[in-house]
Amino acid sequence: MRLVLVGPPGSGKGTQSDLLVKRLGLVEVGTGDILRLAIKQRTPVGVQVEPLLKQGLLVPDEIVNKLVAELFRGPNRPECFVMDGYPRTYAQAVAFDALLAQEMMNLDGVINLAIADDEVVRRISGRRCCSNLPACGVCYNIYAKPSKVPGKCDKCGSDLVLRDDDKEETVRRRLQEFHKNTAELLDHYRRKKLLREVSATDPVETIYANIVTALNQSAA
Ligand code: AMP
Repeated sequence: MRLVLVGPPGSGKGTQSDLLVKRLGLVEVGTGDILRLAIKQRTPVGVQVEPLLKQGLLVPDEIVNKLVAELFRGPNRPECFVMDGYPRTYAQAVAFDALLAQEMMNLDGVINLAIADDEVVRRISGRRCCSNLPACGVCYNIYAKPSKVPGKCDKCGSDLVLRDDDKEETVRRRLQEFHKNTAELLDHYRRKKLLREVSATDPVETIYANIVTALNQSAA
């Protein structure tokens, strides 16, 4: 199974990716995680993109396209995958199509996780992520999925933090960016008959079941 998850920050892309990884054995490719790791490791790309992530702005297409291409052309190329946060623009979708064609791979479906902006802001203000990167980085939510000990990661015990890019002002900017770029991206996949809409406001297990059903429809 090879799929792309599209949705604004806070739509539950990460949660659904985790389930798809655990249950279907997919490899998660999260460009946000790749970029945050580059920042933490102070690589040249990391230094370049840090101010953009802090402001909630998109990283230029060429940079993310190159990072994804390096991954897919490298020795650890994922065979079955869920893309979490890439492609995010029409230009990225075109570059990803070309990359997959070169690698003789097809997408099985593109899932659009639909949710209203105000619900996104409410959800994200409660998000807390493990500060131990890249070793852990698990995210919790003080409303929906709290850690057992407040402020501490269940998995590794490290401090949980509100990420800079999860602050309300940043979230609003990220939502603006998301809407600006997504219409064309979704149209592209709609034309290719790969797009499936799933409501992101249902319980986690319902959303997961709806994604699996939608992907089976794609394959039909
Ligand atoms: P995420 O963890 O997916 O919400 O991404 C966090 C931030 O990383 C975004 O706000 C962007 O600044 C950057 N980013 C992640 N993926 C992409 C992408 N495909 N294109 C451009 N910027 C990205």
